[in-house]
Amino acid sequence: MTPKTETEVCVLGGGPAGAVIARRLAQLGHDTILIDRSVQPSQPRVESLAPSILPILDSLGLRDCLAAAAFLRETRALIRWSTADVEERSFDAPSSLVVRSRFDARLREAASVAGARVMSKTIARAAARRSGGWTIPVKTPTGPLIIESAFLVDARGKRAGGNVKDQHPRTVAISGIWKHADPSFAQTRIDAGTDEWFWGSPVAEGLYSAAVFVDASRAAGLNSARRADLYRRLVSRSRLLKGLLRGQLTGMLTTRDATGSISQPLIENDFIRVGEAAFSIDPLSSQGIQTAILSAVQGSAAVHTILTGAAAEPAIEFYHTSQQRAASQAARHAAQHHGSRQHSTASSFWRQRSQGVAEPSSKKLADMSSRAPLPARVRVSPALQIIETPVLTGSLVELSPALCHPGLDAPVAYLKGIPLAPLIADVRHMSGSEEIVALWAQRLKPEPAQNMLRWMCAVGIMVPAT
Ligand SMILES: Cc1cc2nc3c(=O)[nH]c(=O)nc-3n(C[C@H](O)[C@H](O)[C@H](O)COP(=O)(O)OP(=O)(O)OC[C@H]3O[C@@H](n4cnc5c(N)ncnc54)[C@H](O)[C@@H]3O)c2cc1C
Repeated sequence: MTPKTETEVCVLGGGPAGAVIARRLAQLGHDTILIDRSVQPSQPRVESLAPSILPILDSLGLRDCLAAAAFLRETRALIRWSTADVEERSFDAPSSLVVRSRFDARLREAASVAGARVMSKTIARAAARRSGGWTIPVKTPTGPLIIESAFLVDARGKRAGGNVKDQHPRTVAISGIWKHADPSFAQTRIDAGTDEWFWGSPVAEGLYSAAVFVDASRAAGLNSARRADLYRRLVSRSRLLKGLLRGQLTGMLTTRDATGSISQPLIENDFIRVGEAAFSIDPLSSQGIQTAILSAVQGSAAVHTILTGAAAEPAIEFYHTSQQRAASQAARHAAQHHGSRQHSTASSFWRQRSQGVAEPSSKKLADMSSRAPLPARVRVSPALQIIETPVLTGSLVELSPALCHPGLDAPVAYLKGIPLAPLIADVRHMSGSEEIVALWAQRLKPEPAQNMLRWMCAVGIMVPAT
């Protein structure tokens, strides 16, 4: 008879999303098992983390994991994208190149330290719903095991193959690692080709990883020799990477799906998808890992809210809406980025990837820096409504009053951590801009108070009064 174990939460997949949600749920007091098959890749997989991940890791107390896995911090990259010329672009804050297996292992260790039971080298088979939870057969290094769990988290990455909706044009990345003797291959190189784009980065001294992103149809049905031919041919067309052909390709090529997509359902009363199992974004942004971690953080609050018996519906609505919104925003950025490649007549590869994503109707939320002069008298727009909306408050999802206005993409409860509904309640019967700023300054200090009023005027929440 197969041995059994019980848990409150079972997380399938110990990549960044799975490790972070398992850690958060364990910290919040939930009995949590994290299952990961932890396959050692045949070639080191190097990815770049944009500096925008740092505040997220800091807020989670996980910056050490990055420090342990990063082998290079880059403030410069060679880019050939919006013009035919190569530019050496400098960045104020460095991006970190990490070896993924090392980074993921550190995140799983952090989950274990927080109390999650981490089962490594363990493969999850198809989970089945039963009354009151899930039955998950797994294959451990010492034999089969059945896990019975009240809640199931799918963090198996894109390969989980949920019911995928909104698939963008299918893209695959073919990557190889080159041994070379050229010291100039010491930094990231990004190159836009005619029907493809390239991303290269150092892996270690004398080793350089080069990936080519092509429409999936070009690589479909090719055996490994023909795929290698295609890869070499494409690399030879890249002005920034063709120098690698003087070196030697080491090991096997890897081919990965690099298509942006979103799966459904994202969340139910006893089930959630996080990270790339929920949605994936175009790798062009270098923000896939941080997006996966954010989805795990938001997911942990939704799961915690459901498991503690608080209202499940707002938690489900919050998670569903936040993931949909993040996926659409990422798709818009990717489309803009593809569209900014203008240095020759755009082929269908570029046209398809820069189309079909509507611009958001609202003003940018975080933009409180407008310097436009304020009208002397303003009033609250008659189109403004205050509605209850689910928001993340610490580790729970709760209903909170939010501003709902045609100038906003979605109801907004907080802006830069400031609750907005009380500000509106303060000024319902006031109209002098100076008077409003002075009143809000008691809550926010003068400059933020003025910026807040400017932003509300820019969005149309406050309108000129006669
Ligand atoms: C070519 C390419 C380049 C990229 N470059 C970057 C980059 O530079 N920067 C960046 O931020 N993002 C990049 N990304 C995106 C990034 O890789 C993903 O966003 C990130 O890996 C998502 O994390 P995750 O935890 O959701 O999924 P994954 O990292 O895929 O983790 C899933 C985990 O689940 C495990 N698993 C799967 N099935 C099972 C099972 N049945 N049983 C047990 N365990 C299982 C896997 O072993 C894995 O550990 C790139 C993506 C591609 C395709």
